[in-house]
Amino acid sequence: MSAHLDETRRRRTFAIISHPDAGKTTLTEKLLLFGGAIQMAGSVKGRKAARHATSDWMALEKERGISVTSSVMQFPYAGRIVNLLDTPGHADFSEDTYRVLTAVDSALMVIDCAKGVEERTIKLMDVCRLRDTPIMSFVNKLDREGRAPIDLLDEIESVLQIQCAPITWPIGMGSSLKGVYHLLDDEVHLYEPGRNFTRQDSTIFKGLDAPELLARIGAQALRELRDELELVQGASHPFDRAAYLAGQQAPVFFGSAVNNFGVQLLLDFFVEHAPAPRPRATITRPVDPVEENFSGFVFKIQANMDPQHRDRVAFLRVCSGHYAAGMKALQVRTGKEVKLANALTFMAADREIAESAWPGDVIGLHNHGTIAIGDTFSAGEKLTYTGIPNFAPELFRRARLRDPLKLKQLHKGLAQLSEEGATQFFRPLLSNDLILGAVGALQFEVVAYRLRDEYGVDAGFEAVGVVTARWVRCSDAKTLEEFREKYAMNLAVDAAGELVYLAPSRVNLQLAQERAPGVTFAATREHA
Ligand code: GDP
Repeated sequence: MSAHLDETRRRRTFAIISHPDAGKTTLTEKLLLFGGAIQMAGSVKGRKAARHATSDWMALEKERGISVTSSVMQFPYAGRIVNLLDTPGHADFSEDTYRVLTAVDSALMVIDCAKGVEERTIKLMDVCRLRDTPIMSFVNKLDREGRAPIDLLDEIESVLQIQCAPITWPIGMGSSLKGVYHLLDDEVHLYEPGRNFTRQDSTIFKGLDAPELLARIGAQALRELRDELELVQGASHPFDRAAYLAGQQAPVFFGSAVNNFGVQLLLDFFVEHAPAPRPRATITRPVDPVEENFSGFVFKIQANMDPQHRDRVAFLRVCSGHYAAGMKALQVRTGKEVKLANALTFMAADREIAESAWPGDVIGLHNHGTIAIGDTFSAGEKLTYTGIPNFAPELFRRARLRDPLKLKQLHKGLAQLSEEGATQFFRPLLSNDLILGAVGALQFEVVAYRLRDEYGVDAGFEAVGVVTARWVRCSDAKTLEEFREKYAMNLAVDAAGELVYLAPSRVNLQLAQERAPGVTFAATREHA
């Protein structure tokens, strides 16, 4: 029990959210460097490419120079075990990106100091808010000219609706970047090009009065810093751990990921203050991570990681108890007891067989199509974790079959691929169309590729007049029936048989909502 408590308390399971090009990959590399998980910076992208070089359908990924898949990286730091769950970002942005955020205990938001809060960040923040996930923020690219730090904090506060508590503060920016000041430790960390900026390799001054500091950064920079700090300390919020843990306040750091500057200050603070696994809700009761019995849920299914086998890997987040290789667990949805042999763990270097895993860890279960997203595994109790939803797609295409005789395979392929969770598949009530929804455009290409490769179906995807979807619910049978009749044109069923409103425009959706007050339009759907 005490090992269990210790192991749980030292877990930090998080994801990085950012708009493409803000510096997520670069920051990931630096964090892994501190964890000793990789020897050299610059290997995260290379590693991703190499791992899939032999996979055939991943040829698509190679062609595009992007990563369709994503992974989990575990590394030790300062007595903690850090689990960094990658959120697919560029063209490989998909519903998985959103759902990864349901499996973390906190998130780190990277913002480009020249660009401020961008569109993708806003969306990801909305997902974090569903569970009030604690957020820390790293304002990146300080070595370039950017916007005034105060303005950036203002923008985060107003656009993302979260208080900012600066922990470090920049001294200059771009070509006049001198360093950062740590507001809590009262330390100045100098920026000196060419340094590694580990604690051992940094010039650090205690307090602002150190005579040598004046000599190093100059009277003007020091005066500006004092003025700014006065302003900041008056206008922003002091760090409040309870507010941070409640998702109401974001500690903010400034730095330059590519120069590794300001990163260790972030990581030190992160491992100290970011939450360890906390109790999670199930349909019946909250489950505490230190409960003795094993439980966890599946938040992602990834196909063909190993090109030798056409298997899929189900990513399971451990929520309580302890996983030991070969143990048995109840797959609650099917009611079957299954042996969890040969689960994978995800060390930064490679995939390995997991001997054991603790709350906060992620293990990969081999899956031949029997495991679904949202599945709970337990030691026998009929638990079902909540909060692992489907998200309303933002892009829609109609499947176009080149050989009409393959319709059955097309149905089967679309249904099975949608079970992996990166796409969703809808059948309108009034037509024979098959409509595919996704949150990232690349998914249509991936599905077309895999339909051909795995199901022998030659299908394309064409534009369709749908901009968003909402799951329709109504407790009153009569109201629902009337709604169905009136809006049959816009209604469809998803792969789980649930009723969905496919809106041809935002305005149309708004009108439908106003005209049917007894009906709820949900942007997420919990798994059955
Ligand atoms: P991602 O798309 O969020 O993963 O962003 P990347 O980590 O791939 O970074 C996007 C680009 O910004 C790359 O060319 C990086 O080298 C560059 N970059 C990342 N961090 C910094 C930084 O601190 N300063 C500067 N000048 N460029 C950076």
